[in-house]
Amino acid sequence: MQLWVTNDDGDKWLCADCKAEIEEQMINEGWRLVFDRLDPMLRCAVCGHCDIEIED
Ligand SMILES: [Zn+2]
Repeated sequence: MQLWVTNDDGDKWLCADCKAEIEEQMINEGWRLVFDRLDPMLRCAVCGHCDIEIED
């Protein structure tokens, strides 16, 4: 999951799928990558899923 700083909506965690989908918007709005972290507790701000599938 990547943490991005947006201009008017605060920081957002984004998964790779959602990042690819809104990449053009991110570039246009000048979002900045803060850091990349692999953490099963993190949820994507767009789709609400986590990076890591947790098996029972
Ligand atoms: Zn997502």
